[in-house]
Amino acid sequence: GIYLDHQASAPPSPTVLSAMMPFISGIYANPHSDDHAAGWAASDAVEAARAHVAGALGAETGEIVFTSGATEANNIAILGVAEAATDRRAIVVGAIDHKSVLAPARALGRRGFKVHIAPVDDDGAIDLAVLGDLVNDDTLLVSIGAVNNEIGSVQRLADISRICRDAGALLHSDATQGLAWGAVDVEAAGVDFASVSAHKAGGPKGVGALFVSSTSADRIAPVIHGGDQENGLRPGTLPTPLCVGFGAACTDLPDEDGIERWREVTDHLLAGLRGAIPGLRLNGAPSPRHPGNLSVLLPDGDAAAVVARLQPRLAVSRGSACTSGTPEPSHVLRAIGLSAVEAERTIRLSTGPGTRIEEVERAVALIAAAVRAT
Ligand code: PMP
Repeated sequence: GIYLDHQASAPPSPTVLSAMMPFISGIYANPHSDDHAAGWAASDAVEAARAHVAGALGAETGEIVFTSGATEANNIAILGVAEAATDRRAIVVGAIDHKSVLAPARALGRRGFKVHIAPVDDDGAIDLAVLGDLVNDDTLLVSIGAVNNEIGSVQRLADISRICRDAGALLHSDATQGLAWGAVDVEAAGVDFASVSAHKAGGPKGVGALFVSSTSADRIAPVIHGGDQENGLRPGTLPTPLCVGFGAACTDLPDEDGIERWREVTDHLLAGLRGAIPGLRLNGAPSPRHPGNLSVLLPDGDAAAVVARLQPRLAVSRGSACTSGTPEPSHVLRAIGLSAVEAERTIRLSTGPGTRIEEVERAVALIAAAVRAT
């Protein structure tokens, strides 16, 4: 089948798989065992991987804390900053942020923190004027996702950072959907914390990282307790093969030409869909946008039925998220002004840097046929 769901999980490259293999089979020692050479070999591999991850984010090696993924990184950032807080009691999160940002913020709300939701415009961009009004000298933390997973919108983090700095608030960004196309530069973005996940960028599932700026490291405290791994912020034995695969993925990201080609394939897919399905609309702004993301609104019908009809030939995803079996219209699509019915008519297609023109052309034919048949 054709795979157009790279934003859910991207295929690991041969480079990533071959880097991981020795650590799955032969080099199994605990990377935190410092009494023997086997442990040192595992530790060296983990530290080399950490340097690669840091390099991809424009961070220092010592600023990378490995986690099990972006969900955990987001939770540690938000709950951990609250854990270390002394005076400030308000949190601001973005309206179209991932549930792993919104849910811990809501949990803090139940503990007495004030939680504000920063709205977005119809393009999915945070309204900076409203954000400026929401952030004040009681604001502990602002958490705004860098690149949206449903509609691919990109936030102006440097401007958001300025608003936070002026008020003395910390800034966290869920940058999970920026890593695959090298769009995360923690220095330029001016963030204190940032979350990423390996499997969205060609690495393995089950590993991610939290960037903790050296200047803000004293503003976050652990939320799980155990050993002193990862500076005590994320105790537990690191999964050596996963860390190594994550590091390899970070050295294997597409360059500028590769991203340009990637964007062209995605544009070709959109043009094809528009030609084949009259009345189809693109959700969110054409640019700036994730190079592989398309969120399209079908003129009528039901996206779930179309997506189901495409199985097993084409993997695409519905625009609406499913929570514990109860389908509810996507909060992202609702926040950019779509009705609940329109949200149910939305399909997300996400190409990867290796997606070929022939694949997207075949996908257009399949989708057009599925739309006609439903
Ligand atoms: N944030 C964003 C923006 C995501 O797209 C995802 C993956 N759906 C996550 C967080 C969670 O990542 P993980 O699978 O590594 O927990």
